[in-house]
Amino acid sequence: MVSTCTYQFDTPVYKGAVTFPTQLFIDGEFVDPVNKGTIELINPATGKPFTRVSVGDREDIEIAAQAARKAFKEHWGLKVSGAARSKMLHKLADLVDANTDNFAALEALNVGKTFLSAKTQDIPTIGALLRYYAGWADKIQGKSVQTTPDKIGFTRHEPIGVVGAIAPWNFPLSTLIMKLAPALACGNAVVAKPSEFTPLSALFLCTLIREAGFPPGVVNIVPGYGDTAGQAIGESMIIDKVAFTGSTLTGRKIMEAAAKSNLKKISLELGGKSPSIIFDDADVDQAVKWAINGIYTNQGEVCIAGSRIYVQAGIYDDFLQKFTEGAKRLSLGDPFSPGTFQGPQISERQFERVMGYVKSGQAEGATLHLGGKRHGTEGYFIQPTVFTDCTPNMKIVQEEIFGPVAAIMKFSAEEGSLIFHVRSITVIHGVKEVIEQANNTPYGLACSVFTKDIDRAMRVASSIEAGTAWVNFSNWPDLGLPFGGFKQSGIGKDLGEDALENYTNVKAVLINIGIRI
Ligand code: NAD
Repeated sequence: MVSTCTYQFDTPVYKGAVTFPTQLFIDGEFVDPVNKGTIELINPATGKPFTRVSVGDREDIEIAAQAARKAFKEHWGLKVSGAARSKMLHKLADLVDANTDNFAALEALNVGKTFLSAKTQDIPTIGALLRYYAGWADKIQGKSVQTTPDKIGFTRHEPIGVVGAIAPWNFPLSTLIMKLAPALACGNAVVAKPSEFTPLSALFLCTLIREAGFPPGVVNIVPGYGDTAGQAIGESMIIDKVAFTGSTLTGRKIMEAAAKSNLKKISLELGGKSPSIIFDDADVDQAVKWAINGIYTNQGEVCIAGSRIYVQAGIYDDFLQKFTEGAKRLSLGDPFSPGTFQGPQISERQFERVMGYVKSGQAEGATLHLGGKRHGTEGYFIQPTVFTDCTPNMKIVQEEIFGPVAAIMKFSAEEGSLIFHVRSITVIHGVKEVIEQANNTPYGLACSVFTKDIDRAMRVASSIEAGTAWVNFSNWPDLGLPFGGFKQSGIGKDLGEDALENYTNVKAVLINIGIRI
């Protein structure tokens, strides 16, 4: 049985060892799964297995949900003050910060993201998220409402109960903490399931949860496969709410499971196909910088990746040349090398999926302008890739690729017409059309607009059906602002005050102070 593992790092950017139990974390204890299941984890930079950890099944989710329900009723929920919950979240934030290098090393090893990006972005975000919601924990308030003269009415925002939190593999710990932090701040108990591909950072977190002082059963972490452990969270009659980040396909399954079980509440953060619209008057160098960041950060494995780039004709050639030069300069390689910008894709399956899109783009007539090939001889590296001459219905323009592949398209003057160049064919549309094309996918997660004209920026940003609009930058959620998709990109919001709505039930209380009839 897998119990405790040590991960040794002797790299240019980090030397050290991290030791922690790799069992399930249920009711404050590390325990073996009922069916003794394990999963082998593959290092995406080499394609070779490097460890084996426990995985839970349906029975383990049920046991964890029961522990969470008991904890919620007996020593959590409305029994603990917001101030006390805040203190624990602050303590956990401090412990995460103190282990930044350890967490960053685990994420780099397990996901293939660079150690330095994890150390400077992902892990500091986790501490910041925990502190942000620690700040809310004692400010979960209702309001008093004037009713009739003989009644007093007010609302209470009560914790829902047991929250199932399900995370994807691209930002394993930060997406999990986006659920955990507000859920705990509001007084819920949690059963969390990291992705089967990337459980290490969540397992290491368990040791800190105990140290932060959370009572047993308040946080339970059960790595497991989606179709067994994940599906069991959706179907559970004990779990009151599921907070999910992952693909739109899985989001549908969770909605269906919730409908067929106890009608649990759901919030879903799903896929995206975000457009960037770059006008002639934009600062081209800045637009290039942000567009490159928008599509190639984290190997393109980013839900908000700016994968469709529409560039106005006057700067198109300049933009394309600078974008191409910039993309060629991105260094691919060992996630633990200080100069690396882009690591490998997470898995062979994901590598094949992205390469399948490259083939489809070529087959459908787009021009493979840059990249499109495997990098190196081992691991799952894909060159930064650019397609031009794309038409609106191509799969590479419509579907989420979740890899380092950009589709760049050209349009004409704002008040004139939009031009798609398709080899020798030029399709001309009005400016309304570029917005129509930007909106022409099932997704609506994010968008960005580049222009120095504030009126135009406002006009375009408000016309795009997306949960986030960036002006003159991209790919930058802010902890204080709601984050989540329109259309098939999701239901509900993570981040900001709005996320708290996912984790409370609002109760109306009416007091009769008049004469009884
Ligand atoms: P995925 O949907 O395959 O898996 C996500 C999680 O769901 C995993 O933990 C998986 O085990 C679990 N799961 C799978 N089947 C399940 C089921 N039937 N019931 C319950 N849980 C199940 O997604 P992924 O491949 O891990 O992640 C990539 C996707 O996540 C992309 O589509 C990306 O856009 C999306 N994503 C969205 C956001 C956002 O905030 N909108 C952020 C990151 C990733």
